Amino acid sequence: VAFQSFALDPRLQRSIAKLNYSNPTLVQAKVIPLALAGKDIFARARTGSGKTAAYCIPIVQKILEEKEAGNVDRGVRALILVPTRELAEQAAKFLGILLAYCGKSIHSVNIASNISEQAQKFALFPKLDLTSRHLLIDLPDIVVATPSRIIPHLNSSNLSIKSTLAYLVIDEADLVLSYGYEDDVKAVAHVIPRGIQTFLMSATLTKEVEELKSLVCRSPVFLRL
Ligand code: AMP
Repeated sequence: VAFQSFALDPRLQRSIAKLNYSNPTLVQAKVIPLALAGKDIFARARTGSGKTAAYCIPIVQKILEEKEAGNVDRGVRALILVPTRELAEQAAKFLGILLAYCGKSIHSVNIASNISEQAQKFALFPKLDLTSRHLLIDLPDIVVATPSRIIPHLNSSNLSIKSTLAYLVIDEADLVLSYGYEDDVKAVAHVIPRGIQTFLMSATLTKEVEELKSLVCRSPVFLRL
């Protein structure tokens, strides 16, 4: 397979070309077409397998399609949960590259970085540019976070995730659970809309990961990579 065979938006194709990836990795070749077809994904995939691109590419593609069709209210469409700040930075950096040619039409934020809760709130609800005093219209479509970081915002009144979320990723799910985020991730699972598309990626398949799968996925395609 080649990336061209996925029929991606030209802006995405351009950023992928810029990354100089010659071909999709195995996990990308499997996950991208299934995800574009709307399937939930439960994949055993390690760091280094190219899993970040495997979930980011179809999510960005689908959000671009929704925007083109003009049928989306503003609000967070995708939530990417990871176990560490470092991993959040990697995912956010990759999204930045992927979105490089999309202009203001799609916007992502990382709230796992070392910023105050006020700054996180501002990233999630960028109402006013403090220097120019202009209203910012680029509300985030994609939020990258650790489970504990998203909780206070989910419980605050104005984060519309509860009604607008369409895609949920839990990356390195085994680590998310073993790093003590089990209650947080379950709390997230309980407030998000039913039936959204989910991506559960884990290097190891523990009993706890299987339980999380039952909680967040509908009938996922299982990929043992
Ligand atoms: P990940 O498994 O997402 O942490 O990715 C591991 C590394 O593989 C990252 O540094 C990516 O830049 C790189 N990578 C991802 N997809 C490809 C690809 N199709 N071809 C070459 N390198 C890739």
